[in-house]
Parts: sequence; C-alpha cells; structure tokens
Amino acid sequence: MRPVSAFLPLLFAAATASRAQVAPVPPPRAPTPVTLLVDRALDGAGGTISGARIRVEGGRITAIESTAAGTSIDLRGYTVMPGWIDTHVHLDSHFDRTGRIATDSEPALEAAMGIALAAWETLMGGFTTVQSVGDPGERPLRDAIRDRGVPGPRVLTSLGWIVGRGDSTGTPDELRAMVRARQAEGADLIKIFASTSQRVGARPTLSEAQLRILCDEARAAGMRSMVHAYRSQVSVAARAGCDQVEHATYASAEDIATAARLGTVISPQVGLVVQNYIANKERYLGEGNYTEEGMATMLRDLPLDFDICRIAVSTPGAKVVFSTDATAGAHGRNAEEFLGRVEHCGQTPMAALVSAQSVAAQAIGMGDQLGRLAPGYAADIIALDGDPLADLTAVRRVVFVMRGGVVYKWAPTAAAKR
Ligand SMILES: [Zn+2]
Repeated sequence: MRPVSAFLPLLFAAATASRAQVAPVPPPRAPTPVTLLVDRALDGAGGTISGARIRVEGGRITAIESTAAGTSIDLRGYTVMPGWIDTHVHLDSHFDRTGRIATDSEPALEAAMGIALAAWETLMGGFTTVQSVGDPGERPLRDAIRDRGVPGPRVLTSLGWIVGRGDSTGTPDELRAMVRARQAEGADLIKIFASTSQRVGARPTLSEAQLRILCDEARAAGMRSMVHAYRSQVSVAARAGCDQVEHATYASAEDIATAARLGTVISPQVGLVVQNYIANKERYLGEGNYTEEGMATMLRDLPLDFDICRIAVSTPGAKVVFSTDATAGAHGRNAEEFLGRVEHCGQTPMAALVSAQSVAAQAIGMGDQLGRLAPGYAADIIALDGDPLADLTAVRRVVFVMRGGVVYKWAPTAAAKR
C-alpha cells in the first residue's frame, strides 16, 4: 500500500485545477415551463384580463391567452396580478431571540437568520422585488437569492447610507468618493439622508449643491439616488436632480408640485411603518433614537403623513410610488400599506396596486422587465383569495407566489369560488 503522502501532489493538483475550473452551483429551484389558468387578472398597469392562460417559460411570461401545453396550475377563482414591488424596506431590521430590536452585537449567524427570515416573510406576503436600503448584509442576501436559490424577493440594495452633516459632510471630491465607494461595494442605488430622523427634528442636513453632487455622481455611475427628505428638502432634492424622495412629511404642496414637475418619484408611507413602531414600541425603546419622545412625535404627526400623501396623489403628474419603510415586525405585512393608501391617502384600490407594480418597476429602473402581466416580462406572479378592487383586505390573502417562474407558495383555499 502506498503511503497517503504519495497521493498528495496529485490531490493538490486536482484541487487547484478544480478551483480554477469550477462553475457556479446552479440555483436548486430552476424554473420549469408552466401554464397558469386564470379567470380574473390585473395587468399591473391599470387594466384587467379575463379568461387567460399565462404561459411561463425560462422565468418569463412568454404568452398570454395561448393554448400552450405544459404543467397547469389552476388559479381560477383567485385574482392574479404581477408580484408587488416595495421600493423601501430594511430587511436587516429584525427582532433578536430575546424579542428586542437586534443590534450590531448580535452573533453573526443569528443576524444572518434574521435577514433571511425577513426576506422569506416578505416574499410570502406577495412582494417579489424590494429595494432594501441600508445594511451591508443586504449584499450577501441579494446575491444568495439571485444566484443560489435562497428564497426571497429580488433585492436591490444601497448597502448603506450617505448621511448629511452640513458642511462637515465632505468636500465635493469627498462626496463623489462616497458614491463611488458604494458602487465599488456593489450597491444598486445610493441612499442619502438629507434630513435628520423625524424622531429628532427632521432638520435639513445637506444643501442643494451637495445633493446635486451626490445625485449627479450616482447617475454617472449608473445608479439611482433615493433621498430621505422632510419639509422643503423635498423640493431641494428634486431641484438637485435626485431620483426619489422618501417620507416627505412636513413638505408643502409647492414642494410636492416641484417634485412632480421635475419627475422626481415621491415615496410617502401611511399604512405600516409608524403603526408597526407603535405596536412594537417596547421592543425598540432604548436603541439609537428610538425614544419615548421620538415615538410620540411619529404618532402625533401621522396625520401629517396622511396629508402629504393625499397632496401627492392629487398633484397632476406626480409619480407616487409604493413603499413601506418596513422594519422589524413589519416584514411580510407590507401589503398593509395598500389599505393605508386607500383609507388615509385617497387612492383607488387599482391606483394603490399599480403603484407597487408598473409604477414601482419604472421607479427602480426595471419598467421593461417587472410589474406587468405581459409577454417578455419576468414571471413574478401572485394570486389573492378575493377581488381587491371590491374588498381590499384580499391583499392580506396571498395564496400563490411565483418569482422568476419558480413557485414559492401555492396554498389553495376553500373560499375561492369555482
Ligand atoms: Zn427607511
């Protein structure tokens, strides 16, 4: 018998060769061709479809109303539509095993479980794409979902924030370097804080000139810019050429009109984020700026959030996109924002849904790929038990979730009428 050591050079050569040649592991959930039988569908852009067969192949919708063969999933009796897109979430935000908001001291594996669970809950809630804006952990999550079959929504991420600090934020060259650093880290977009948190005064932190440098640099680098902005910072960010403004509380109708005129996407939140903070207040208190006073301010000013949303949706030409700002406790319940949009903001159910479909797809620069039931679009398709145009609470009853042609949820209910 030859000693093991005699094989070592051979093993080493084999290991070296295989490392050089190895191909990425294919996603374990490869899409298979399927035909969805549908009797009621919304197309994602304000239209309806009835009595269709939706052919899905290679992760895309290849035909509607064809008689193509293939495995059939019978979605008759449900309302079928493009999967929803939430343009502002924080998948990294989660409660730790003690039930408190997780901090940086949480063990790394538990943090990974937390972000993965948030992704799973979000997908099960009918959201097939999200922009998660604020944590380095979003990169491995995004990549594992995209490349390795980890279940979750398609993730676009800013990885971190550029936080305004007035003149001390940086020189023009330093501002540009901040944007390029994010790009080098693999960010899909840039998230900028042009105001302090609502919990600590919502004060301006960046000038129009500073914002223009940041947003111009993001565009030059092929990235979109999202700006956290209150009060007149909404129109400041719009004039600076930034792509999307978040929250917009305390802004005036003139600020909103400026954003609308300049094509800036407006992203108000009325149905979930503050309500979730209040419901889970004890789990958050004591961490960062989560104080009794800050929570009280958010609750007190919730009607002002409603006001600015109503102003935005009634401003001609305004691009009002769906977003929740979901943090710990809110993942998977993102659809509550639809109910808020109708109840507090005055949108029709159809307009609210479309704001998370074709409107959101456009806002994230994927309007030719996502957000519509049409040939050539990604097979991101969900089904609800009920008709949301007649009873909006149907958005809470997601029975079917397909993303990229892969079925992640199919839970038929007896309630569907055949
Ligand atoms: Zn946020």
